[in-house]
Amino acid sequence: MKRRVSILGATGSIGQNTIDLIARDPDAYDVVALTGAGNIEQLAADAKNLRADIAVTADESRLDELRHALRGSDVVAAAGQNALIEAACRPADWVMSAIVGAAGLAPGLRALEQGVTLALANKESLVCAGHLILKTAKACDARILPVDSEHSAVFQALVGEDMDAVERVIITASGGAFRDWPLERLADATLEQASSHPNWDMGQRITIDSASMFNKAMELIETREYFGVRPDQIEVLVHPESMIHAMVGFRDGALMAHVGPPDMRHAIGYALHWPERQSLPVERLDLARIATLSFRAPDEVRWPALRLAREVMERGGLAGAVFNAAKETALDGFIAGQIGFLRMGEIVEDVLNTMDPSHIDAAMTLDNVAHADQMARQAARRVIEQ
Ligand code: NAD
Ligand code: MG
Repeated sequence: MKRRVSILGATGSIGQNTIDLIARDPDAYDVVALTGAGNIEQLAADAKNLRADIAVTADESRLDELRHALRGSDVVAAAGQNALIEAACRPADWVMSAIVGAAGLAPGLRALEQGVTLALANKESLVCAGHLILKTAKACDARILPVDSEHSAVFQALVGEDMDAVERVIITASGGAFRDWPLERLADATLEQASSHPNWDMGQRITIDSASMFNKAMELIETREYFGVRPDQIEVLVHPESMIHAMVGFRDGALMAHVGPPDMRHAIGYALHWPERQSLPVERLDLARIATLSFRAPDEVRWPALRLAREVMERGGLAGAVFNAAKETALDGFIAGQIGFLRMGEIVEDVLNTMDPSHIDAAMTLDNVAHADQMARQAARRVIEQ
C-alpha cells in the first residue's frame, strides 16, 4: 500500500531533499499536501510532478499566481494560515515538518494531533514548545522522528539501548563560517560571509545561525527536550569536518558515534524508512582518504549563544519561545542590514534578561507560546531600533 505523505515547507532546503527521495520511488508514495511560501513556481512544479492533492502557499496574496501555475492539473491550490493548517490536518501517514522558524510549530502540532508520524526538522518546535509537542504526540498516539542530523544520529546510537545507561550526549558543530576568524573581525562580518557554510548546503537562516552558533544553541535545547537528558549531560564538540554528527556516551565508558557525509538526505531518509534502513543516494565515506578527523572544545566567548541556551534550559517554562523569537528577530535585523553580526547575541541576551517573568512562567499552551513569542519579538525590535 502506498504511504500517504505531506511535506510542510516543501520548497525549502529540507523540503527539496525530501522530495528528491520521494521522487526516486513515486509508486511508493501518495503525496497529500505540499506547502511553501514565496517560491510559487517550485511549489507548483513539485505538486504537479508528484501529483499532490493540494498545494498551499502561506502567502495569501500569491493564491492567484499559484492557481495559474497549477492550471491544467488536478492539484488544488490554497493559501493562507488556515489553509496551511487544514493541509497539515489532512489524513496522512508521514508528515515532514520543514517550515523554518516558529511558524512551523502550529502546523506540526496539528499534524501530530491526527496521529501521524512526524519527521521533525523544524527545531523551533522543540525549542519553543517541547513539552507541548511531546505531550501531544503521546496523547494522540503519534510519533516524532528527529530529522536534525545530530538528533537523528543520537536516535540511531540509542537503538536497543537503555536510557538509564546513558551518561552523556555529545552533539558536534562544524563551527560555521567564522570558526577560524580572529574574534576582533566578527563585528564586521557581512551577510554574504555569514551565509556561506563550509560543509552543509542549507537554508540561509540556519546557515547564519550556524555561524553564530545559535543553531547549536537550539540543538542543545532540542536534545534535552527530545531525549529527556539533563543539560549537564549534553556537550557540544567542535568538529570541523562534520563527519561525526553526534556521540552517545554510556556508563561503561563506550562512546557510540554516528559517522556519515554531511547530507541531510541521510537523516530524512532514515526518518522516511524507519524502522527499516533502505538504500539512500548519499556518498559512502572513504575514511582512509579522509585520514584525519579533528575536534576542539567550543569557545563560549566566541559563541555566547551556547551559554544563553544553558540559561534558557535552566530557566525552563517558555524561556525557549522567548529565546527563539528574540533570535529570529535579531536575525531578521542582521539580514536587513540593521545590526552587526555580534549584536544578535547581545539582543537575545537583553530580551531574555528583561522579559516580564509572567510570560515565561505561563502554562505551555499554543496561545501562551504565541503570546510570549510576540512579546519577545516586540522587545527585540525595540532594542534593534534604539
Ligand atoms: P528554508 O528556508 O530553506 O525553507 C523553509 C521552508 O519554509 C520553505 O518551504 C518556505 O516556503 C517555508 N516558509 C518560510 N516561512 C514560512 C511561513 N511563515 N509560513 C509557512 N511556511 C514558511 O529552510 P531549511 O533550511 O529547509 O530549514 C527548515 C527547518 O529545518 C528549519 O527549522 C531548520 O532549522 C531545520 N533544519 C534544516 C537543516 C538543513 O540542512 N537545511 C538541517 C537541520 C534542521
Ligand atoms: Mg543540525
